[in-house]
Amino acid sequence: MDAKYYIGLDETYGAHNYHPLPVVISKAKGVWVWDVEGKKYIDMLSSYSAINQGHLHPRIVKAAKDQMDKVTLTSRAFCNDRMGPFLKKLCEVTGMDVALPMNTGAEAVETSIKVARRWAHQTKGIPGDEGDIIVMENNFHGRTTTIISFSSDPDSKKGFGPFTPGFTMVPYNDVRAVERAITPKTVGILVEPIQGEAGINIPSPGYLKELRRICDEHGILLILDEIQTGWARTGKMFAFMHEGIKPDVLCVGKALGGGLYPVSASLARKDIMDVFTPGSHGSTFGGNPLAAAIGEAAIDVLVDEKLARNAEKMGAYFRKRLEEIRNPKIKEIRQKGLLIGVEFHLFPSSPVLPICERLMAKGVLAKDTHEKTVRFAPPLVITKADIDWAIERIKPVFEST
Ligand SMILES: *Cc1c(COP(=O)(O)O)cnc(C)c1O
Repeated sequence: MDAKYYIGLDETYGAHNYHPLPVVISKAKGVWVWDVEGKKYIDMLSSYSAINQGHLHPRIVKAAKDQMDKVTLTSRAFCNDRMGPFLKKLCEVTGMDVALPMNTGAEAVETSIKVARRWAHQTKGIPGDEGDIIVMENNFHGRTTTIISFSSDPDSKKGFGPFTPGFTMVPYNDVRAVERAITPKTVGILVEPIQGEAGINIPSPGYLKELRRICDEHGILLILDEIQTGWARTGKMFAFMHEGIKPDVLCVGKALGGGLYPVSASLARKDIMDVFTPGSHGSTFGGNPLAAAIGEAAIDVLVDEKLARNAEKMGAYFRKRLEEIRNPKIKEIRQKGLLIGVEFHLFPSSPVLPICERLMAKGVLAKDTHEKTVRFAPPLVITKADIDWAIERIKPVFEST
């Protein structure tokens, strides 16, 4: 069966909530994927940073297979022998006190919003329906009805109201705007250390440090969404580690599942997480033994293979190679570790999508973000030779755009 057949099935039987590149992948290994016709591509998206360890990392696959011979699901009605060791590792690697395991990123964000609100109601005496969380313009935190309520992207919101109140939006990378937005009802600040979906928006150095200071001064919570920036992507295990600060609440997901399985968590200081009581929050699949085994192996691979270091080194090399490409239509290259955005001047007749289609034809899978930026976020196991292979194909496309 060829690609057309599978794409036809998707179009006939699937909801049309995505517009994928017309490539049908049937096999993957490391930084490489193959389509149904056997053509090889380099994966420059890593499923939005969910495959930092590379496709089918043998150690993570083995952990999953071994666990599948034992027990995969217990629900939280009972305990299992994998969740505890997993949560311990998760707390140690993040530097947080306590973790609440969920499955998807959006659930980790929802959990973080709930814990922050209840904490503020209980400790700051903010009435039950009046807590307010400061969020950023052009944020991306997921797709639930509450999360899209504070999105500034019309496509994410149109027709989905009524929306959840309790969020105040300010411009990203604007410390003064945050200070001005604080009221006695403010619970905390929810922010991405780098805005990935918004086009790799990297704030000024010191931004997180300033937000930390504001939170300390006002006794409110710094809630970081590191679902995309975490797990070694930006050259440190977490982006907040570049600034030597710690959040009060931390959302993680994506690469915590090692590319095999959805695994996410909300982590917090112990006194904050203690506001959860039995029955107040939960998930049937959260913390299941299979997820825990995979999550533990996913963390081990990142640590043991020093993938943060590789992201830092390879990111700098990738950027250098991209900077060799000369085309006045390239406006800017933004890069932190292996999270790279190449922004083009917007020329109305041709947004960036056709560039991605031409890259695909050459064997490089990348996707546009916010129409004018091409994102390169390959698996962190990428080598110099892999980058050279990619640049050889990216260069002619970018130069003739
Ligand atoms: C992907 C992402 C999410 C949502 O994760 P899902 O697993 O798709 O629900 C939330 N926040 C950020 C920053 C993300 O990149």
